[in-house]
This record gives sequence, structure tokens and C-alpha cells, in this order.
Amino acid sequence: MTKIQGKGVCDGVAFGPICFYKRADQTVERRTIEDVKAEIERFRAARETASEQLGVLYEKALEEVGEEGSLLFQVHQMMLEDDDYCESIESIITDEKLCAEYAVSKTADTFADMFANMDDNYMKARSADVRDISRRLLNVLSGAPEGGIDSEVPVIVAADDLAPSETVQLDKSKILGFVTQGGSANSHTAILARTMGIPAVIGAGDVLTADMDGKDAVIDGSAGEVYVRPDETTSAKLHKKAQQESERKALLEKLKGQPNVTLDGQDILLYANIGSPADVDAVLANDAGGIGLFRSEFLYLESKDYPSEETLFQAYRTVAERMGGKRVVIRTLDIGADKQADYFELPHEENPAMGLRAIRICLTRRDIFITQLRALYRASAYGKVAIMFPMITSVWEVREIKKLAAEVRQALKCEGVAFNENVELGIMIETPAAAIISDLLAQEVDFFSIGTNDLTQYTLAVDRQNESLDMFCDTHHPALLRLIKMTADNAHKHGIWMGICGELGADPRLTETFLALGVDELSVSPSRILPLREKVRATDVSTVRDEIVAKI
Ligand code: PEP
Ligand code: MG
Repeated sequence: MTKIQGKGVCDGVAFGPICFYKRADQTVERRTIEDVKAEIERFRAARETASEQLGVLYEKALEEVGEEGSLLFQVHQMMLEDDDYCESIESIITDEKLCAEYAVSKTADTFADMFANMDDNYMKARSADVRDISRRLLNVLSGAPEGGIDSEVPVIVAADDLAPSETVQLDKSKILGFVTQGGSANSHTAILARTMGIPAVIGAGDVLTADMDGKDAVIDGSAGEVYVRPDETTSAKLHKKAQQESERKALLEKLKGQPNVTLDGQDILLYANIGSPADVDAVLANDAGGIGLFRSEFLYLESKDYPSEETLFQAYRTVAERMGGKRVVIRTLDIGADKQADYFELPHEENPAMGLRAIRICLTRRDIFITQLRALYRASAYGKVAIMFPMITSVWEVREIKKLAAEVRQALKCEGVAFNENVELGIMIETPAAAIISDLLAQEVDFFSIGTNDLTQYTLAVDRQNESLDMFCDTHHPALLRLIKMTADNAHKHGIWMGICGELGADPRLTETFLALGVDELSVSPSRILPLREKVRATDVSTVRDEIVAKI
């Protein structure tokens, strides 16, 4: 038995084989060949296989997301057959007597650059498609499996680390748990694991090795432990823990339908954070009062190209309708930093967390923003949609956003499209600047939601992706609590509601403090709703409020 000690980021015990996340190796050699005819045949056979793979993906997408979302795979199939593309590959093989892999890779570079340099945005976006089909061809030629997990049965996914875009594309029904060598508790991969309610351990370090692939293991999320080939005593102990956890779950079930009210009668809204329409099942199962953060960028990360207004509208509408009139706060695109989608072709940055991300992209690439705003307003006719904007630092940004939102409303009105005129517009308070000028910002918007993950990173100058800085990342730091208090006071002074949607909102050690500060809403992973309701219902704030507030 090998014990791996890491940091637990989502509770739960699960037994199953370890399966390493595979990334295709795409180093391409400039290899000369003798038999040109055979090499051309090899390329053509690979093209056929790639086309078949795309056909399967098309059918799957058609079933899961409909005609529009599946179209891309057909476009890719056509691109694989494109005469210019194929001629370029075959002439490199024939004229230069070089291998198919090199010919594909060289052609990909030439064509992708050509598209990227075109003026038209649609043609520009084709650059990522050329890279995509070429990557697929290279995988087939080298016999490498596609990135992902190669298993028929559910597994504990192991990796050095996982990018958010890799995590969202995994088949959730095949995942029992996550264990990664690196990673930090506030990384988006950890957040995704919590949203899915899947036990996860990060920071396992070098003890997690590739030869563990396929071995039976057990993951204990709350203890941050993974046992590979567990002995009988460990297995028995963890089976018992799994049993206790399911008994506790059954007890929490009894809290469904109960109000989130303290012993002294103070109410708080308990909402859920989600990343996709599929997460609404967990929101309803855990009896959340609404959705306080729909991280809409995950819809972009799952796609290979900019999702259309219609695709976005359908996703938002589904969530709004399924929540049946409960508030659904949808955050506009927060892409950039660790959340990268190739087709955005964001420039390389020295310091991406402080770079072109979130609202900065939306305000500089307005076509993308307007498409999303139109989809959001259209969905507002089907439920209680509220719109929230991330990474705000200045009043002018909010005014510019409001101007664009008004233009979108006007355009929809002219087109006779139904929408709610009174959609609440709110902002995330996740930069120290926003918290410090929250008195000014409160006069511009309908609500605030504090993003403690980024607020911590920017206040303490601690990169949320860097696990080696854990000892400097005090999430209860007085500077943070003062910024939260300042934001709450300013919100209430100007008559707007405020909540917390960062991971700190679920920290039970701070529930009393948040209640004392008059926080109106906490939005947390669906699985944290009922434990938090239990905590709220057992708290009496009246006797400690003044003391807590005075200490901050
Ligand atoms: C936050 O920063 O706290 C937040 C909720 O947003 P994200 O984690 O998606 O950056
Ligand atoms: Mg954030």
C-alpha cells in the first residue's frame, strides 16, 4: 500500500482504479522517407480515420446539444477534405520526401497563420480550426490516444495538474475522484471538482507516479489522502467512513425545505455556484434558494469556437426555466488567466492574472460581449435572470457596461424580442480597488457579490494557482475581512444587497462573522448548501455581533 498525502479540496470517499489523464505528445520530427507512395497512403488513411472520429463526435453532440452545437464537427470534416490543405500536405511528402507528420504540421502552421492574418473575424477564427484538425491528424498518425481518460469504467483521475478546459471536457459519469500532483485550493479545477461534488485531493507531489496507472485505490477527500492498493485495515476503515458520510448526508436531507434563519431570527440567502446547465440537478437536489454565480465562461471553454447567441441563449434559458422563478445570477465571460480557449487567441502575457481577462476582454472585443448580453437579455423572459460583471476596478467600466446593456435592450425592443426590462445588474467585488470604491460603485448597480478567490489573490499578492505560496495565503487575513466589511457597509448604505460567491463563503468558521456583517447572500458549491444551512440555524448572532464587528 502507498499512502499519498495531499490537500483535500472536496470531501467524499471513493474506491476505484487510478487512471492517468493522457495528453497526446505532439513533437514532430523532420524525418525523410523512401517510399513516397506508402507515405501518401498513410496520410490518406489517417485522414479517413480522423473524419470517422469527427462523425462520431457530430452524432454525440447532435444528441446532447442539438444541431447548432454539432455543426462544427461537420465543418471540420469538410476542412479535412479541403483540396488546398491536402495538396499542400501531399506535395511536401512528394517533393521534399518528408514524413506525413512533418507535412501536416508544416501545412497547419502555414494555413493557420494565413487565416490569423485575415481581416475578417470569422476567417481569423478558422485558424484555430486548422490547428484542431491538424492536431487530430497527428494523433491518428502517431497512434496517440486523444487527450483525456482512456477507460470504460469509472476511475480516480490522476494528473500532474488539469487545466479548467481539460476538466470540463471529461465525461463526468466516468469520474470517481481527482488526484493531482500540483494544484491549489482556489484553482478553477478544484472549484469544478467541488461543483461536481467529486472527492478531490491536490498537491500530492512526487509520491503520485505514473506506474500507479490502473492500480486500485481509495480517495478520502476530507483527509486529503489517497491510498494506492489499500490494505484490508485501511479499506475497512474507509468503507466505514463512506458509510458515515452517507448517514450524515441523510441527516442533512432533513434540512431541505427549512429556512436559512439564525436562532435570533436573522435570514440569509443560500445560493449555489454552477458552471454549466447540467449542474442545475445538484442545485435542485441540495435545495438552494437560487444561483448566485453561473460561471458562464465554462460554456466557452467547452467549445471549439465562439458559441453563437442562440447556443448561449438556450443554455441560459434552460437554467432560468429549471430554477422556476428563483434568482439566477449569470456572470459574463470571465476568460483569460488560467481559463484559456485557443480560439480567443489571447496574446501571451508575462502576468496573465493581471492581464487581459474578464471584463477587459469584453470591453475591448465588444462583438463577443454584445452577443452574450443579447443572449442573457433574451433568457430574462424565461425566469429571474440577473447579470453580473467580473473583475471591475473602476466606475467608468460600469458606466460603459450599462451603456452597452442599454443599447442591447434598445436593439431587442426594436426587433420585437421579449426580455425583462428590469434585469438586475450587479458586479463582482474581487479587486481591492472595487472594494475601496464600493461607495461609488454601489450607486451604479443593483447588487455586489464578493469574489474572495480573486480578492484574496490581489489583496495578499498571492497567485491563486501557486500551491507553494499556501503559507502566505491567509484567507482570514484582517485586510480581507476589512475589505468585506467595507463592501457590506457601502452596499447597505446605498440600499443594495450584497453577497459572497468566492470559496470563502462556504467556510463555516466565518459564517458567524458574515452574519454579523449583515451579508445578505452566500453562494457556494451545491454540496455545501445544506451544511451551511445547518450552521446558520445553529447560530445566535445577537449576542456576538458588536464584538465581532469591533474586532474587524
Ligand atoms: C472569485 O474570484 O472569488 C470568483 C468567484 O470568481 P472565480 O473563482 O471564477 O475567479
Ligand atoms: Mg474571480
